[in-house]
Amino acid sequence: MATLPQVESSAGRVSRETSDTPPAANSAPKTPRKKLVRRVNADHSQQLRRGFQTAFLLLNLWVGAKFYLWVRYFESGTASLGRARPAGVEGWLPIAGLMNTKYWFTTGHVPVIHPAAMFLLITFVAIAFLFRKAFCSWLCPVGTVSEYLWRAGRQIFRRNFHLPRWTDIPLRGLKYLLLAFFVWAVANMPAEAIDQFMRSPYGLIADVRMLNFFRYLGETAAIVLGILVIASLLIQNFWCRYLCAYGALLGLASLLSPLRIRRTESTCIDCAKCAKACPSNLPVDRLITIKSAECTGCLECVAVCPAERALDISLPQWTKAPHEGRMPPWAIAIGIALLFFGIVGYAKTAGHWNGEVPNLIYQQIVPHADEVGHPAE
Ligand code: SF4
Ligand code: SF4
Repeated sequence: MATLPQVESSAGRVSRETSDTPPAANSAPKTPRKKLVRRVNADHSQQLRRGFQTAFLLLNLWVGAKFYLWVRYFESGTASLGRARPAGVEGWLPIAGLMNTKYWFTTGHVPVIHPAAMFLLITFVAIAFLFRKAFCSWLCPVGTVSEYLWRAGRQIFRRNFHLPRWTDIPLRGLKYLLLAFFVWAVANMPAEAIDQFMRSPYGLIADVRMLNFFRYLGETAAIVLGILVIASLLIQNFWCRYLCAYGALLGLASLLSPLRIRRTESTCIDCAKCAKACPSNLPVDRLITIKSAECTGCLECVAVCPAERALDISLPQWTKAPHEGRMPPWAIAIGIALLFFGIVGYAKTAGHWNGEVPNLIYQQIVPHADEVGHPAE
């Protein structure tokens, strides 16, 4: 066991409970001052997490390819192309999911158009409630691509960049403003209006229009996408940190989560490796409990911590026992998988997964998707 000399106790250290303000010393590890008791067991959280990210990315690519063939089937009439619409594509329709959730809560009836959008939204909110914002760091394909981009940026530029606080804090508020706008718009729609919207040609093929947006990317959209890619190379999780309203919703749900990153002061050696590793730039080394809505439950901080029982993700601790309530990464992985397959499996077996739109309707409107106007126009 490697040891370092014990120099002093933790007296005088900054120990805040809630702030997620990045510390000035984030980028420079402090000198360890306490005896290091090295971790006994290897940490496999990142292998597990990357496995989930890869599997979900592949699942999305498979669903996307099936959906593309289904659209092409109606556009070209080629019978050899796919005829089955993969309802999972509705995971990319979070606003439809929000509208349908309201419809379900107010009427008690499961919506028949884009029901999978609702079940997927509920699944991801449930994951956020139980396991922090783990959807963002374990499942979301956009989060995965963002992570690859900032890692690539770190290779290219030898570092990632942080915006100054005066820019970072207001920009982080942007995603909440976007979320507030969508929630306000949906809250003001009566259930009948939601039903009418979903049954309109525009609502029926919202997913086709989204696909076409990327298939026929306009010049402005391509420039915006290019700027986002460059910003994501430079700044960790640029899209997720500043612009993703879905992530903002999940972050708010995660504030209610009983599971939190907790640091044990007595075993922590103040090396600051956790704060340096945190992609959300949270001052993990200075807090006892991470309560921030920005914490994605990625466990990067736990993975790099060298000290035994210094940093864990755990349930509330009722006693002083350092390991009480500790949640091993495999339990989080199993929990995420159970919620995902459990809720999706329920929707499928109960007959609520696929919408009730006859192919005849799709045959008429899919080839003219871009001519279909918004019902409010
Ligand atoms: S590194 Fe730790 S504190 Fe930072 S986002 Fe991941 S789990 Fe949360
Ligand atoms: S929690 Fe672990 S990584 Fe973070 S400062 Fe303490 S010993 Fe270092």
